[in-house]
Amino acid sequence: MTPSQTLLRGRTLTFSAEPSGPEDVEAYHYCEDGAVLIEDGIILATGPYGRVAAQGVNAREIDHRPHLLMAGFIDTHIHFPQVQVIASWGAQLMDWLNTYTFPEETRFASPAHSAAMAAKFYDLLIGHGTTSAVAYCSVHKTSVEAYFTEAERRNMRMIGGKVMMDRNAPEALMDTPQSSYEDTMALIRDWHGKGRAAYAITPRFAITSTPQQMEMAQALVRAHPDCYVQTHLSENHDEIAFTRALYPQARDYLDVYQSYGLLGPKSLLGHAIHLTPREVDALADTGSHPVFCPTSNLFLGSGLFDDAGLRARGIGNAVATDIGAGTSYSMLQTLNEGYKVLQLQGQSLHPLRAFHWITRGNAVTLGLDDKIGTLAVGSEADIVVLDARATPAMELRMERAETLSDELFILQILGDDRAVAEVYIAGQAHKHAANAPAANLRAS
Ligand SMILES: [Zn+2]
Repeated sequence: MTPSQTLLRGRTLTFSAEPSGPEDVEAYHYCEDGAVLIEDGIILATGPYGRVAAQGVNAREIDHRPHLLMAGFIDTHIHFPQVQVIASWGAQLMDWLNTYTFPEETRFASPAHSAAMAAKFYDLLIGHGTTSAVAYCSVHKTSVEAYFTEAERRNMRMIGGKVMMDRNAPEALMDTPQSSYEDTMALIRDWHGKGRAAYAITPRFAITSTPQQMEMAQALVRAHPDCYVQTHLSENHDEIAFTRALYPQARDYLDVYQSYGLLGPKSLLGHAIHLTPREVDALADTGSHPVFCPTSNLFLGSGLFDDAGLRARGIGNAVATDIGAGTSYSMLQTLNEGYKVLQLQGQSLHPLRAFHWITRGNAVTLGLDDKIGTLAVGSEADIVVLDARATPAMELRMERAETLSDELFILQILGDDRAVAEVYIAGQAHKHAANAPAANLRAS
């Protein structure tokens, strides 16, 4: 008889709040010999091995010692059709879109291409320890169908939407206000709330939407206030100047979105680098979430995200890769570059806060911290197994690591997909599912 429960043994780390530092022991829970008990994709128990094992006496046990178990990573801003755009040379935002990104996105009109890329996309996410993401698909419904179909096949909690764009793009990438409305409504009906899927209403950014399309986005948000909204904000000075010229009546860039009712706690605004004081006030007042994309901001030379300044106003920042302007699928490498971006501004990113950010922190910005982002009882069992000795350089450095914070910082700075030993999605092992067993199996 196959046991219905799975017991993962290893060192466990989970967060219940954002830690201010290692002394903030109320915010995180670390178990040197810990375990997670899973049934039907849900976490039944987390804590010391002895206690949790006693709860799951018939469970199939998988021993991941000495590795570290924590909630799977969450990427809050990524472009699914840009898997073949990553690492395209030498441009800032507007040329980069026109030269590389838009031509590539036209290929997602093809269902076969979309499906093939979706399989690769999820392989990459899982390989890097990312178990949930919020993605921009292309303008084509086909790309969204492929995105959610593949996520459903892998039982992943994914958020995404079709970009709405009706100007300043190649003909093959443009919809109309009416078709963007109808396609989005149909996709919401087909996918939003189906299994683990949720929909994000996605006007790409102000430059590629006419005022008539913004009105349609507003109508969609009114009709579906439970959907997310995602767009881009103030990434680059030329982008801001173009936006101001296209929307001369707006008080500033953010006011374009604000005046069409697109802001709120379910709204994610990629980049949000060059902000006026009024825009910061509006972000705070509406509870909207800026999304910090450090590898992308450095790659396109866009600027430095003011994490501390926004946080001081009570604004909840998310963090993300922004593939394909971002340069790594790894949320660990995203933290590495994020650390440096903050260093350049005299700000700090303690590793405990960093790991909270890519797990529970991002889940909080999505309003999903009761489902993902922690190892709490009742959460969905999306779990990453991390090996801080995955490379020779890491192994050597680990010889001098004395604390959990030391280990986390080594993972944050030196870690990438090689440090991801295994990934569980809703309790199912994925990364090595097709290969040899990643850990010692002991069916009890
Ligand atoms: Zn983006």
